[in-house]
Amino acid sequence: MIQDLERYSRQVHFSGIGEEGQNRISKSTVLIVGCGALGSNMANLLVRAGVGTVKIVDRDFVELSNLQRQVLFDETDAEKRLPKAVATMEKLKQINSGVRIEAIIDDVNPRNIETMLTGVDLVLDATDNMETRYLVNDACVKHQIPWIYGGVIGATGMTMDIIPGQSACLRCLSDAPSPGSMPTCETEGVLGGTPAVIASIQTTEALKIMVGHHPTGGNLIHIDLWENEYNRFQVKPHPDCPACVGKRFDFLEGELATEAFSLCGRNAVQISTSRKDQLDLKQLKARLSTLGEVADNGFFLTFKVDQYELIIFPDARTIIKGTSDETAARSLFTKYVGN
Ligand SMILES: [Zn+2]
Repeated sequence: MIQDLERYSRQVHFSGIGEEGQNRISKSTVLIVGCGALGSNMANLLVRAGVGTVKIVDRDFVELSNLQRQVLFDETDAEKRLPKAVATMEKLKQINSGVRIEAIIDDVNPRNIETMLTGVDLVLDATDNMETRYLVNDACVKHQIPWIYGGVIGATGMTMDIIPGQSACLRCLSDAPSPGSMPTCETEGVLGGTPAVIASIQTTEALKIMVGHHPTGGNLIHIDLWENEYNRFQVKPHPDCPACVGKRFDFLEGELATEAFSLCGRNAVQISTSRKDQLDLKQLKARLSTLGEVADNGFFLTFKVDQYELIIFPDARTIIKGTSDETAARSLFTKYVGN
């Protein structure tokens, strides 16, 4: 289309892309896992670049403290506590109506990730926890889908391309750290520039994969913007890797009825359950209204009790604010939501 040639002219004139590259980009489907700082930056760039379909999955809602670095959200989104996936989709629809944008308000877990990957050519990591990254790694290695790791904290960031069958995977690099052993954005803070740089690298790597450009050199990039350090490393596949060599997908196969984990950057715990039936939020609201302050915004219930705030979604997934103790959170969940 002439209109498209005009819209993407600067990208098409870049020799690495050209008309053929743009055509490939327009036929690609990407999944962005997480829509915080990395995810909103990447969704912005990929939708503007004309990727055919962009699927965005995020379990969270917009808060005032997000606005410092999460580029697609504004004060109204924070006031309304809109789900990030929805706020992203609404913004980006206005920017490029030619891209199919799909918003999924959900946690990514072993039960749903393979369904989410249906028809996806490439996955972009923008999560805030390592457990989900290892799950993404398992699912992508199993289904031979390229994915791009990305993580930031403070002024440092890291990204790595993982092309199953060609490159090392995340488990070749290291095994999952134990819970509580890693610093979080809550304790260390994060600058707005760090995710912007890492997301820009991830997005450009994504375009390269879409157009079939395979540069040589290091596949792991580490930056420290505060100290101006930029490093590249070559990670080789590990001969004993349980995932890409052993075809054992421990994170994908892990089955827990109820899972709880602390959320990065907040004094909060998320509980998710394997139950298939949906909660009746109206009924639950009525039940909880005698115990504390409860509100319904059409997407979830907000329930305040004691020093806690519970955000309860229709699939029973619950974010419990006011504690980082997973056991206490499980107890509150059982008490007020039920499992
Ligand atoms: Zn591996």
